[in-house]
Amino acid sequence: MSIQEGESTPDPTGLAENLMDLNLNAAATDKPDATEPENFSPKKDKKPSRKGKRGGKKQHKKAAKSDSSSLDSGLTSSEQPTFTSFNGFDNTKSDTHTEELFVFGQRSFTDTDGGEHGLFAKTHILAGTRIISEPPILALIESQTDSEGVYAAFQKLSESRKQEVLDLRSVEQEVLLGHRDEIAQLIEDAEILEKKNERTEEESTILKAMKIDLDTKVLKYRLAAIFMTNAVSLRLQADPKGIPPNVPVTGLFPTAARLNHSCIPNVFMTWNSRIKRVTVHATRDIHPRDELTCSYIGTKTFFFPAEERRRLLVKWAFKCMCPACDTNHSAFEEHDANRCKLYTNQEYMDFFFSKRVEHPNPSASTPSRKTHTDPPTQYEYLLAEQTILDTIDVLRQEGCTDMELARQRKMLAVYVLPDLGKWTAALAHAKTTLLIAERCIGTDNPDIEETRKSKEMLGKKVEDEKRATKRR
Ligand SMILES: [Zn+2]
Repeated sequence: MSIQEGESTPDPTGLAENLMDLNLNAAATDKPDATEPENFSPKKDKKPSRKGKRGGKKQHKKAAKSDSSSLDSGLTSSEQPTFTSFNGFDNTKSDTHTEELFVFGQRSFTDTDGGEHGLFAKTHILAGTRIISEPPILALIESQTDSEGVYAAFQKLSESRKQEVLDLRSVEQEVLLGHRDEIAQLIEDAEILEKKNERTEEESTILKAMKIDLDTKVLKYRLAAIFMTNAVSLRLQADPKGIPPNVPVTGLFPTAARLNHSCIPNVFMTWNSRIKRVTVHATRDIHPRDELTCSYIGTKTFFFPAEERRRLLVKWAFKCMCPACDTNHSAFEEHDANRCKLYTNQEYMDFFFSKRVEHPNPSASTPSRKTHTDPPTQYEYLLAEQTILDTIDVLRQEGCTDMELARQRKMLAVYVLPDLGKWTAALAHAKTTLLIAERCIGTDNPDIEETRKSKEMLGKKVEDEKRATKRR
């Protein structure tokens, strides 16, 4: 998932200048400078530093955390794909709800804040507020997200919507280097003809054709880079029309794409299949002028040390300078120690679930993990309970109050505490899970149904237990 931003549009090819010199620049080269309920307040670092430099930028995701790996695989192919048009969304006009109320872009902020791009809070935003609700401007089946597929979908947009796409920032992608070389060769060939003092009529015709070809190739290259940098995985269920169930679809969301990354994010972005929009919710209270940030690398933001996160953010050429990444920040050491602790906790939970998966609680669905022979011992169950409680505590200390908190509590409520017979505690965690999920993805997101059902099931179980106790 990714997000991006549009400043002076960096030409990922680095070829724009050459094109300008040759007077061959197409639309592709010029870019308008458009300009107990869970405590959701972080215990520290309320105002993460925003020194992050975007040599490139980021995106989302993932939940709607974008799954970059699937994108990558879709874009490597050099074969000519059959483009299937995706008709599930009306992308003829911008229909994004909201930001006017809560958010402004960097542009109006530049004088005081040094020229970075992103989305900033206009006003105090309460945890749980839906800040953005945005349909995709482009949505493609992931197997068709190569340069030809993106180009074909782009051509169907109106001029103004095309410009919205072109305004997005992009980062050079390794899988596109072949395209880049091809463009460089074309420029070289055109340059030779261009420099000839006298050209035959045939040469002039060839040069003209080369220029047109070059314009198209540069545009395709640029669109592919924009798409790879900014696209978000939609995880469609049986919708929308014409797309078989569970086919991965990837979308581009120009407003949400402006969100920058932070390892201490304050918003959560996800796909809502009911309203067919990406939503962005505040995961904690946000102060006026704070930058809105999400995680481009999903939960790896929480469970990986700074060095590893740096490596994962290369795809967006994003240098995160949040307090958990900025080695000069006074809180850096503490953050990094906490992330290492979270990593160790996660390793234990992986081990625990590898044993538990073959010995599930009959009343609960089981996580799909690798198999193992022995069921967890009572001691391992108790250790799992303590490990998750510790993870929740550390996440809160870190100011990380998004869906990962809900996931941890759900593990307790559904997979650990019931097996220990701790039904009342399980129900309490299930209730909190639901509260957190509602704040992060909204009460109308179908993904929340399973959490609701878990809570109801546990509520019934607790009542049953109470009745049984009375009878005794
Ligand atoms: Zn960071």
